[in-house]
Amino acid sequence: MSNPGPRWFEQRKDFVTKPRPIEAPADTPDLLTRCPSCSQPVFKEQLELNHEVCPGCDHHFRMDAPARLALICDADTMEFHDEGLGSIDMLGFVDSQPYPRRLAAARKKTGRMDAFISCTADVGGVTCEVGCFDFRFMGGSMGAVVGEHVTRVFERALKHGRPAIVVSASGGARMQEGVISLMQMAKTCAALARLQDAGLPYISVLTHPTTGGVAASFSMLGDLIIAEPEALIGFAGARVIEQTIGESLPEGFQTSEYLLDHGMVDAIVSRGQLRGTLIRLLRQFLALPSLEADDPLVSRSEAARNHAQKPQSTPDLVKPE
Ligand SMILES: [Zn+2]
Repeated sequence: MSNPGPRWFEQRKDFVTKPRPIEAPADTPDLLTRCPSCSQPVFKEQLELNHEVCPGCDHHFRMDAPARLALICDADTMEFHDEGLGSIDMLGFVDSQPYPRRLAAARKKTGRMDAFISCTADVGGVTCEVGCFDFRFMGGSMGAVVGEHVTRVFERALKHGRPAIVVSASGGARMQEGVISLMQMAKTCAALARLQDAGLPYISVLTHPTTGGVAASFSMLGDLIIAEPEALIGFAGARVIEQTIGESLPEGFQTSEYLLDHGMVDAIVSRGQLRGTLIRLLRQFLALPSLEADDPLVSRSEAARNHAQKPQSTPDLVKPE
């Protein structure tokens, strides 16, 4: 009897369950998303309660700027600055579309004039000047207005004798503003040098991704540099570097973990611990008595995190009327 060949189920090379994209029916709200790291479905509400961190594998999703500020700052203490500042098209720049059209689209999408939010706010009872990139606005790119925002954060901190905190998430300089965007590197660093000369602390928080002219200027000059886990941090892209130096790069190059191993960042802090860590560091810098761990100011973020982790399988999705 001739060999009949492989049986039918052995012929199926792809007889393995693969994660399929979740498509919600059109008439139901979009409740789930899939974690790109562990491929598990996660309820969006659960993700939001957990500061956009996957409860299964600790993957840090991107967090938008308002949520980030709400996470870091004490509730109801934020006083925003320079919200009306917006870039203009100084060079008449056109790439695949004119710069003014890109600006208009980004403003419509984010409801913001440019890619940065700055505010005066309390962090664990310590008044600070805080700034945060909005990556949704043209990839958090730094043009004249973002550079001015960052400069003013440092100048206000110097004027009032306060610490400064900047959370970076940026693709680098804004190419549509050419050399004007590159000048922001020197301008922000000069303002920061005056702040540091006065002995005032600046904590830089690097999130995914922090690259280009932002990584090459003030974001790497913090008195303390804190990074989120697995964030991409670097100046040029890995492919460009490989082509330039003609060598292959080590695994994990330009991640937070690699930079910590090589002394470029001081600590990697998970998002759930970020606020508590900032409070502790600020109070140490300013020689203030430390707060107890159960102080409501410190434990707020941890409490929200614990709350989010408990209902792993059955989050309370149906709200009472
Ligand atoms: Zn995950």
